[in-house]
Amino acid sequence: MSKQGNKPSHVPEDHPRFESLKHRHDLIEGMKNLIVAEAGLIAHGRGECFDYILGEKTNKTALEAIKAAVALLLVSDHPIISVNGNVAALVPEELVKLSTIISAPLEINLFYRKEGRIEAITNALKKAGATNILGTDESTMVEIEELRSNRRLVDPNGIKIADTVFVPLEDGDRTEALKKLGKRVITVDLNPISRTALWADISIVDNIVRALPAMIEMATKLRKLPSEELNQIIFTFNNKKNIQDTLELIKNYIESQKEEAFKILK
Ligand code: ATP
Repeated sequence: MSKQGNKPSHVPEDHPRFESLKHRHDLIEGMKNLIVAEAGLIAHGRGECFDYILGEKTNKTALEAIKAAVALLLVSDHPIISVNGNVAALVPEELVKLSTIISAPLEINLFYRKEGRIEAITNALKKAGATNILGTDESTMVEIEELRSNRRLVDPNGIKIADTVFVPLEDGDRTEALKKLGKRVITVDLNPISRTALWADISIVDNIVRALPAMIEMATKLRKLPSEELNQIIFTFNNKKNIQDTLELIKNYIESQKEEAFKILK
């Protein structure tokens, strides 16, 4: 769990939803500091809704996807981690840690390019320990032709040349564009049927605040393995099946809640 951000002073630590309220607080503070776009708050709400029906935990299917994702990042020649405002506000330290362990640079890539946002996110990442951040110099950016939004602007030394792009909390258009460019795409998305999750090669259906620490732990183990073993992990992973299993898991969780949910009232 990220240690970044202040505790919401008005919420007691034993509040049953303390963690969730703390992340909302981080995002609201992030919005005030220009790191998070207004729409980022709404996107988080969409994510929270799915988190509820996933039982607010890292499920088995997410762990399988995490293992395959880390293996893929480790065998890639030019892996890159794409950073948006929400991710920078929620898990800056974890981003830096993962980037170091798997040797993948961080590239800021935004949908909403409000004046001062790139600088605000750069500062948040630097505060978390980042030294090499791409996507900060607009004058050197190049375009991805397949995309119309602001996200078409990428760093020539980052996403442009990357073979694998890790795009947590992404929108479907960009995932599709990156796929069309022949890149392998890994995402973290609480919605298993978002266009992003469906388009990606590996979709980790989990909350970013749990997924990134789990990826760091996994990377620490897997980086000791030879590339043949890593390739075997990637080869045996099936994203479509993983998403279908996750949907089954949601179905079962909701079914179990028919009775379980009422127990808290007694
Ligand atoms: P798509 O275009 O892929 O169908 P979308 O239009 O829902 O997706 P956005 O509005 O950009 O895309 O929302 C971002 C996605 O991020 C949503 O699917 C949401 O479930 C997910 N999300 C939001 N917060 C988190 C979080 N903390 N952890 C993981 N996923 C999250």
